Amino acid sequence: MNIDSIKNGYVIDHIKAGNAMIIYDALGLRELDCQVAIISNAKSKKTGKKDIIKIDENIDLDLDKLGFLDPEVTVNIVKNDEIIEKKKLSLPEKIINVAKCKNPRCITSIERDLDQIFILTDKEKQVYRCKYCESSLK
Ligand SMILES: [Zn+2]
Repeated sequence: MNIDSIKNGYVIDHIKAGNAMIIYDALGLRELDCQVAIISNAKSKKTGKKDIIKIDENIDLDLDKLGFLDPEVTVNIVKNDEIIEKKKLSLPEKIINVAKCKNPRCITSIERDLDQIFILTDKEKQVYRCKYCESSLK
């Protein structure tokens, strides 16, 4: 793959087509000063179409959040113009402060300083449950 403009940073590959902007917003990439490239509807052998995000800086990438948003992505870590590592993501076992519990009686609705913690309880159906009240996400 062509990584031309990236010297040190990340290429987030195999993003489900249409998901790049969601990931862009969720990871706060808008706040970055460095170059960020979004490629929509790139050709993919596996799925036909995919999105790609290139980040030209070694930021602190939240892989749990990324895996939660799109467990199919691959993160290529680029150093000195070369891919030094490929990380295949999967659904994280636990997500912290990624989603909010919707149960109004949940302790996290009252104690606002508490971390919002969700545990993956059904991998196949991608069900996450609140650690405190066991309400499921979505
Ligand atoms: Zn809850």
